[in-house]
Amino acid sequence: MTCLAREEPLKKSVESPAADFVDRYSRQILFAGIGAAGQRKLARARVAIVGCGATGSALAGLLARAGAGQLRIIDRDYVEPSNLQRQSLFDEHDAAESLPKAIAAARKIAALNSSIQVEAKVEDLIPSNIEPLLESSDLILDGTDNFETRYLINDYAVERSVPWIYSASVGSYAVALNVVPGQTACLACIFPDSPRGMVETCETSGILNSAVNLVASITATEAMKLLVGGPDMPTLRRTLLSFDVWTNDRAEIGAAKPRPGCRACGQRDFIHLAGEGRPHITLCGRNSVQIHERQRPIDFAELDRRLQAHGQVRRNEYVLKFWCDPYEMTLFPDGRAIIKGTADPAVARSLYARYVGS
Ligand SMILES: [Zn+2]
Repeated sequence: MTCLAREEPLKKSVESPAADFVDRYSRQILFAGIGAAGQRKLARARVAIVGCGATGSALAGLLARAGAGQLRIIDRDYVEPSNLQRQSLFDEHDAAESLPKAIAAARKIAALNSSIQVEAKVEDLIPSNIEPLLESSDLILDGTDNFETRYLINDYAVERSVPWIYSASVGSYAVALNVVPGQTACLACIFPDSPRGMVETCETSGILNSAVNLVASITATEAMKLLVGGPDMPTLRRTLLSFDVWTNDRAEIGAAKPRPGCRACGQRDFIHLAGEGRPHITLCGRNSVQIHERQRPIDFAELDRRLQAHGQVRRNEYVLKFWCDPYEMTLFPDGRAIIKGTADPAVARSLYARYVGS
């Protein structure tokens, strides 16, 4: 009898997933802005998160726990020890393994909410792959660290009329903007060109993890408003909001209406979407260059054997790392490489040609 009594709740939970759902999200369903209907909408939502560093990690974690039904995490980078101060989905094991951030994030999310779907894409978002990576998303969230990718997302979102949220954080400063194409200003309305004051990066100015979490909290909440209430949700913020958690400076710029003559949403001139693939990108100010001009799969086992004579090699199924002092090369199966130890694309290209092939 005791045994039966103890087994009963288990049996019940297996037989009624709906009861599990209500129980799991009970505190969020109790919140008037969400409710049971809102929670069901969240369960059907498809959200793409572009970039899974500090902001992307926090956003993915919040939305996964909140029950957003399908998350697609797109990131080109791998986990390093210096990420752990602020990138909340990763741990020391991920850094020791140099796991791609998208893979490590998807594993963590699967462990913290197995009832949602999460998809990892280890790729750099560029014009040639943006369509398959972002198609069928209800909402696109920005976890990137550069304006080039943000303008690309903005072009795509405006062209397809998909809402997206710009989020950035550097130093102690956080900034966010909701873009609802056809209703609000878009990123190019506010910043026709890359803003000069914000080209600082986390490497040049450092970053507080609390500034990251603030921008992720604001963005995840606006995301839930959009997913539950749609673009006409009255409480959806229609400003560019910035907040400095260190100085307490706060500013809001109106963004309720598109700027007349805007290149993207006014003239519908999608120059970033039409742009050529970018052969080299210098990453977040950390003395490294990404090369992805060669779209040819790499045979890790063969390359491992070949590189043994030239330096230390380590690999798993996702990355192959090769150290040849003073450089460190990280290769992905699709032929993409991140080369650390230089900020000069010519040096990186010559290293790639010498060790991997041209
Ligand atoms: Zn615009």
